[in-house]
Amino acid sequence: MCGIFGIYSNKLNVIESTYFSLFALQHRGQESAGISVSNGEQVHTVKKLGLISQAFTKEDMDSLPKGEMAIGHVRYSTTGSCTVENAHPFAFMFKGTYMSLAHNGNLVNIQELRDWCLSKGFRFNSSSDTELITAMITLSEKDTIEEAIGEVAKRLHGAYSFIVLAPDKIVGLRDPFGIRPMVLGEIPGGYAIASEDCALGVVGAQYMREIMPGEMVVITKNGTTTNRGFEHQDRLANCAFEFLYFARPDSSISGKNLYEARVRMGRNLYREHPVDADSVISVPDSGTPAAIGFSRESGIPFAEGLIKNRYIGRTFIQPDQLLREVGVRLKLNPIISAIKNKRIVLVDDSIVRGTTSKKIVKLLRSVGAKEIHMRISAPEVKWPCFYGIDTESQKELIAANHSVDEIGRILDVDSIGYLSMKGLVNAIHLPKDHLCLACFNGDYPVKVPDTIQRSKISLDNIKSS
Ligand code: SF4
Repeated sequence: MCGIFGIYSNKLNVIESTYFSLFALQHRGQESAGISVSNGEQVHTVKKLGLISQAFTKEDMDSLPKGEMAIGHVRYSTTGSCTVENAHPFAFMFKGTYMSLAHNGNLVNIQELRDWCLSKGFRFNSSSDTELITAMITLSEKDTIEEAIGEVAKRLHGAYSFIVLAPDKIVGLRDPFGIRPMVLGEIPGGYAIASEDCALGVVGAQYMREIMPGEMVVITKNGTTTNRGFEHQDRLANCAFEFLYFARPDSSISGKNLYEARVRMGRNLYREHPVDADSVISVPDSGTPAAIGFSRESGIPFAEGLIKNRYIGRTFIQPDQLLREVGVRLKLNPIISAIKNKRIVLVDDSIVRGTTSKKIVKLLRSVGAKEIHMRISAPEVKWPCFYGIDTESQKELIAANHSVDEIGRILDVDSIGYLSMKGLVNAIHLPKDHLCLACFNGDYPVKVPDTIQRSKISLDNIKSS
């Protein structure tokens, strides 16, 4: 995860635009936030830990110079711990000029790249894989930043959508598999790049198109140029989890609106796992569109049974187990009249570790649910993600260690049903070979080195050679 945004405009206040766009991307990362701005000669950066609203003070914003180009980032850590050193954008030097880079994704060949940088005499300041990218750009002998990024990109394996801010341009690049999303928009006086199109509308930008897998887009005061020279894959790999959970439902990926895709998942879920019940409730907010789809297909009324405290972050992306557990208790409260003595279909988008689901079922039982039928709008998550999602190792994934029936018993539900792979792909409306489904089937589109298989990738844990 992580959210990235970049803007060039000679009409708008680019710092304010970046600040507000990051609010729209807050769901993609809540651990730190950062903004870099160019005044035409130099790039200045401010970054802090916490939510946007907590991270930046008026003084922080006022400390940035006026300019026409800026980039921003909200972070969710997968590689590297939650420290301000690991926050983005990352400042770096290229040909004697300071620049900055904001990255969404995860590299899988970090050991090899780190060893190479160290052999060239580079000294690292952080444990983020993003510093590897900036280090390699710094070490490049190419003449221009575009050429240097192009050279470095050929050696990066994994998921990467990133934006570089130079004094006079913004360069955006998406990996050849297109694992993480990135879109281009037109804005008064210029252009904007964002992880999701929901961040464009909030600052008055018009969606133009998706940045293609393997495409580099360069924005200057003269307009945009594009280089699709990095497209060399025989398949694409849009992350299926973006469709079912991560990205906002008002966003679109590859032309598919995510709300509609999630409703279709719910419809398919009912067709595959019908049940007789009094009401369909969701685990809000990400399970709600699928619950609505389930309700429409089944004719069972949809009801709000759980109310989410919207001021708590998404528990799945909190960095450690203690925070996750506290998060669940703070996050959801039941509407007792919608649950007591009712046969409930409880729809969620996924079960990863099972800890949250178990607590929710316990909560529903405690207020008198007569039956609880759990329905999941995705297949079982059996494999860890190495491309930017914090699912950690297989031993933590409940479906990697238990059958569906066992999961039902562990969660204490009356029945349980997962959407099939076929049902998921059908609902997304993209060909199967345009999707990464690796956390469901172990078919990793970018080969993951044996040394990091089944463990969390972390430069914190990698010994320098
Ligand atoms: S492994 Fe799963 S979460 Fe990771 S990129 Fe692939 S589909 Fe997305």
